[in-house]
Order: sequence, then structure tokens, then C-alpha cells
Amino acid sequence: MKLNSDSQTRNMLKAAKLYCTEVRIAILKVLMKTDKPLSQEQIARRLGKKHFDKVTIYRTLESLLKVGLVHKAFIEKRACHYELAHNCTASQCHPHFTCTSCGKTHCLTEISLPMAKSPHKGFVIQRQQVRLEGLCPACA
Ligand SMILES: [Zn+2]
Ligand SMILES: [Zn+2]
Ligand SMILES: [Zn+2]
Repeated sequence: MKLNSDSQTRNMLKAAKLYCTEVRIAILKVLMKTDKPLSQEQIARRLGKKHFDKVTIYRTLESLLKVGLVHKAFIEKRACHYELAHNCTASQCHPHFTCTSCGKTHCLTEISLPMAKSPHKGFVIQRQQVRLEGLCPACA
């Protein structure tokens, strides 16, 4: 799916009943232009000339997470990495593959895994996020 324009960003925010603020639009656009999850620091860097302070970026990500436009994909080096939720379903995120040789992480959006079943009574599984490890095509 290709998402890129201003109007698409605005439509996403409208559908999620969020105001179209400059920082929300800017962050969504950064996340649209990448094919891998980004940490808050990487997002800040890619905002380039648009300087929003850390707290503003953090709060914006929290608001986008809350309405489900953005997901936390994984934590790496203690930093949470964020991505758009458009390649995920309500109950599961696409798997992420980390290369043990070069360390790069890839989104495997074409794979869908069967949902895990609850192992014991009392556990309610709401979301499934899977991380895979191995060698990427460049390192294999
Ligand atoms: Zn997801
Ligand atoms: Zn690799
Ligand atoms: Zn991903």
C-alpha cells in the first residue's frame, strides 16, 4: 500500500477523530515514507527542519498509539520503535525479522501467522506480535 500525501494523512487523523495538528501530520508522513519501524530519535532526525521538542514528539506518538494509527513494533537498544498500523490487523502485527549478522530489522508484511491459543484458563490473548531472527538475503 502506498501512502504519501497530505490529504491521506488528514483522512487518517479524521477517521481516528484526532485534530490535524502540524506535528501529527509531520510524524505520520515520516512514518509513511519509511518501510521499517523508527525510534523516537530517528523520527526526530527525519523531521529535519521542523523542530518539535522531545516532549511534543513523545506526546504525539502516544496520541497516535492510543487511537491505533501507530503501533510499537519492538524495543531495540532500550528504544521503542514505531510504525504505522496499516499493515497489521486488529489482533496481530506483522512479524519482524532481525538479521543476526547485520542487525537490520525487516517488516514481513506478507506473512500472517495463526494466532496463539491461550495456554491456561484465565489468560486472554489480545494481540500477537512475533519477532524472528536469522540471516537476511544480503548476509545469507
Ligand atoms: Zn502493528
Ligand atoms: Zn543481514
Ligand atoms: Zn513492521
